[in-house]
Amino acid sequence: MKNLAPKLSDAEYEKNFADITPPFPPHNATLEAKRCLFCFDAPCTRACPTHIDIPAFIKKITSGNMRGSANKILDANILGMSCARVCPVGSLCEGACVYNERDTEPIQIGRLQRFSIDWFYANWDKTKEMFKPAKPNGKKVACIGGGPSSLSCAFYLAQLGYAVTIYDKNDKPGGLNTYGIARYKMSAEEALKEVKLVEHVGVKFKQNCEIGKDVKVEKLTKDSDAIFIGIGLGQTEDLGIPGEDLPGVVDAITFIDELKHKKLRDVRVGRRVAVIGAGNTSVDAATQAKRLGAEMVMVLYRRTEAEMPAYNYEYEIAKKDRCVYYFLTAPKRIIGKAAVEGIECVRMKLGKPDSSGRPAPEPVPRSEFVLECDMVIKSLGQKKQRDFVQKVLGLKTDDRGRIAVDDTLQTSNPKFYAGGDCVNGGREVVNAVAHGKRAAWAIHKRITGEDIDLDGLWKNETIRRVANTAKHQYA
Ligand SMILES: Cc1cc2nc3c(=O)[nH]c(=O)nc-3n(C[C@H](O)[C@H](O)[C@H](O)COP(=O)(O)OP(=O)(O)OC[C@H]3O[C@@H](n4cnc5c(N)ncnc54)[C@H](O)[C@@H]3O)c2cc1C
Ligand code: SF4
Repeated sequence: MKNLAPKLSDAEYEKNFADITPPFPPHNATLEAKRCLFCFDAPCTRACPTHIDIPAFIKKITSGNMRGSANKILDANILGMSCARVCPVGSLCEGACVYNERDTEPIQIGRLQRFSIDWFYANWDKTKEMFKPAKPNGKKVACIGGGPSSLSCAFYLAQLGYAVTIYDKNDKPGGLNTYGIARYKMSAEEALKEVKLVEHVGVKFKQNCEIGKDVKVEKLTKDSDAIFIGIGLGQTEDLGIPGEDLPGVVDAITFIDELKHKKLRDVRVGRRVAVIGAGNTSVDAATQAKRLGAEMVMVLYRRTEAEMPAYNYEYEIAKKDRCVYYFLTAPKRIIGKAAVEGIECVRMKLGKPDSSGRPAPEPVPRSEFVLECDMVIKSLGQKKQRDFVQKVLGLKTDDRGRIAVDDTLQTSNPKFYAGGDCVNGGREVVNAVAHGKRAAWAIHKRITGEDIDLDGLWKNETIRRVANTAKHQYA
């Protein structure tokens, strides 16, 4: 990289990367919990993909029953801690809260959930007893990938007595929870606390183990009664323009990964940074580059603000951090001799809708211009792992390269189930957790014939009954 942004003081790094939604002080949490109307058939619960019984866990906060509250959350969503920190709550539970209809601030469900779950992990020595390894049922399941979908599937299967092993190619488990989520939302250390809970119920982890390379799929298939695939997505899409290989061009996932695992002052960032793409990952890359000390961060997007894929609240973070958006702008080539020196762009205009239904951007002739920069971050979304799925796993994909599944998340090979980003094309942590849980029930039904009501809301009670280790003194 030609020019590096000046280093900040430790205090500045700490301030810039502090929790974006700080925890509630206890008294405020109780006051907020008491505002809840404890609705019957609560819309907030319906809006949560994992169907946490939100009024029930909030009610328990009002009476100081923190065990019961945490238990209600974890019953439905074993990654309740990460979801409390990273969920787009305005589009899910809080967006559905009845207070919105009364022009009143919705209940701060995310922060209340965090209050409960932080208490659970802060008291781990005592609270871990709430979950015990189940009586073994003699069946084995392998999970490929160690992200949220697999953690969820493995946990709920382990509670049913399955011997579950997670195979993951990274050094540490947790998938994007450990390697991808913006540092001001959740640290890697926090993500690993949830892994500890999954490990605590007996799930085994094999790290640095890539299926298809270190372990053959045939062996896994022979040794397991079922397989869950939670491999997420692949590398960032290429720009496909000249200069892409110059030093100073990085992809967003690699940049964010460094941010999660290095000391902040050791992460290299340019003085003038251009981020290509305007999704949620682009916001994370742009804001974190700014918070690391970049003087100017420019986000280039070939459509307009109206078509931008990022959530509005994420966009607001980028604007607050004074990242500058160039709409209707596409990169044409990256300029530089030994490293990035600038980026040549072309102005765009919107044409007729393309296959995605959005207006297709078209270049405006002779509208090229150059933006000076010393770092380019590619953030055009992640590739699908089509080749791996078709050739190594031998499974069908859909026309968008996602693993093809039926309603029960069963793939074209009846022994294989799949969920999370590799199935939905890349959504949120909570969707991956919901998939993992649903796949666990489907696998259990296939192996034992026992149907664990997939459409009811409070299934984990049934799961524990089946596992004969029910311990519901807290609920
Ligand atoms: C930069 C970024 C920021 C995000 N921020 C948010 C956010 O703020 N809020 C939110 O809700 N969601 C966010 N998401 C989305 C969220 O992280 C994902 O939806 C979620 O992690 C998907 O979980 P998963 O289990 O499907 O896959 P992943 O988390 O991707 O995990 C897949 C795992 O499988 C492993 N793997 C792949 N192939 C193999 C193989 N052959 N053998 C062994 N292991 C393999 C990978 O190494 C990885 O560990 C973000 C995503 C990104 C990229
Ligand atoms: S919709 Fe709002 S008020 Fe009703 S239970 Fe949910 S959080 Fe409470």
